[in-house]
Amino acid sequence: MEALALAKKAERNEELKEKIIRLKKERNAIILAHYYQRPEIQEIADFLGDSFGLAQKAKTTDADVIVFCGVHFMGESAKILAPNKTVLIPDERAGCPMADMVNVDGLRKLKAEHPNAKVVAYINTSADVKAETYVCCTSSNAKNVIENIDAEEIIWVPDKNLGHYVSQFTDKKMIIWEGYCNTHDQLTVEDVYRLRKEHPNAQFVVHPECRPEVVALADFVGSTTGILKYCRESKHDEFIVGTEDGVLYRLSQDSPNKKFYFASKYLVCPNMKVNNLKKLANCLETMQPQIYVPPHVADAARESLERMLQFEAETYKV
Ligand code: SF4
Repeated sequence: MEALALAKKAERNEELKEKIIRLKKERNAIILAHYYQRPEIQEIADFLGDSFGLAQKAKTTDADVIVFCGVHFMGESAKILAPNKTVLIPDERAGCPMADMVNVDGLRKLKAEHPNAKVVAYINTSADVKAETYVCCTSSNAKNVIENIDAEEIIWVPDKNLGHYVSQFTDKKMIIWEGYCNTHDQLTVEDVYRLRKEHPNAQFVVHPECRPEVVALADFVGSTTGILKYCRESKHDEFIVGTEDGVLYRLSQDSPNKKFYFASKYLVCPNMKVNNLKKLANCLETMQPQIYVPPHVADAARESLERMLQFEAETYKV
């Protein structure tokens, strides 16, 4: 019975994929998907990446329509960077609780208390918050942004764990907001000790959105893309993974002969998983829901995103 149900599901998915491919052509659309999306969405995506790679792609694509398979703030960033394009998201309820932990009023209050500080916002923020921000960053470029910003005092929003991690590499004063990712923050040192005991030869790789005491146990700390690269290039063949379980799709594709153990069963972001193939096909058919950012907010927010891309270009001459 279970085998029959699985076969039916696979057949339905194939039909949906065909429909998506046809509609994509008709609309001149591109599908951008985050590494935390369901495997069947990653399979059909034109471009797969983390927040930074997806933002870059949104800015440079010549498609008319961007279907953003990720969470809401990512779709907003795409719309801000590509204002003339239609940006769709399969399910508009796909939010990020961490992004919702910081609001404009609170941030303005903090800015008034620290008039010499510049605001660095993790890309996991709403467009409204980005509009109050000097420069955005992602986990892959946060250290670089902090190092190159011309300010000695920094207001950092919203992730306290990433803020703590980055603060170890700078002498600048960082005023850190108390937000966190519900998924990554659940991972505990006990989880890691248990997995280390079960797999003594495995390397522990971790995302800096995890708690500081967990990050301190890692063999490698990095963004999703950094983790993928490390596992791909490493001579080791077993890894305990401390980030969202959607990356398993890409890890297994990159390194089919290596073994990956997720450090906790709670490393699943329910918000990322609300998108599915049916909703993806529907949004391409109806051209809804669309991401909308009021132009005055988008203009202000764009500066902080463009500044991040510029920092990267200057540092790496890309
Ligand atoms: S994994 Fe964490 S930071 Fe990423 S979307 Fe989910 S809640 Fe937000």
